[in-house]
Amino acid sequence: MDNKQKLKIGWFSFTCCEDSTILLTEMLNRHLDEWKKVIDFQHFKALKTNNSIEGLDVAFVEGAISSELQEADLKKIRENCKYLVTIGACACTGQPSSSRNAFMPEEINYKIAFYMCHFDYSKDVQKISDFVKVDDEVNGCPMNPDIFVKIVDKYLKLFNII
Ligand code: SF4
Repeated sequence: MDNKQKLKIGWFSFTCCEDSTILLTEMLNRHLDEWKKVIDFQHFKALKTNNSIEGLDVAFVEGAISSELQEADLKKIRENCKYLVTIGACACTGQPSSSRNAFMPEEINYKIAFYMCHFDYSKDVQKISDFVKVDDEVNGCPMNPDIFVKIVDKYLKLFNII
């Protein structure tokens, strides 16, 4: 089976602890043999050096958006995929990554102030659907692996691959 018959997916991480990336890597111990027959992991920086976002069928996005640069990258991903699925609570709801939005001024100590001054952060951390259309969600902290498998199956069927 060549790549034309595979689901072209991308996996992307924004502001978060990347636990769903670690979880997916663990899941590959069980699912890789089955998935590599039907899935082209076209963009997956945690596992690959050469990555491309062009012409993706499904983009899986974990993490929240905390800078204008991330916002631009997210919009570029959306332009290059047919479907976009948010992965984990940070991407689906903003929390817990967006907990800093609720900091009171007296809680902004010198450490936090240092990071806010020296990196190009937005005032608020926001969820993915605040910026782009989201087609499906795999919520959980980290993501619920059973729902992730169901969503993967859903798109494999939608694209007539299985
Ligand atoms: S949802 Fe939880 S596990 Fe996933 S990136 Fe956010 S904090 Fe980490």
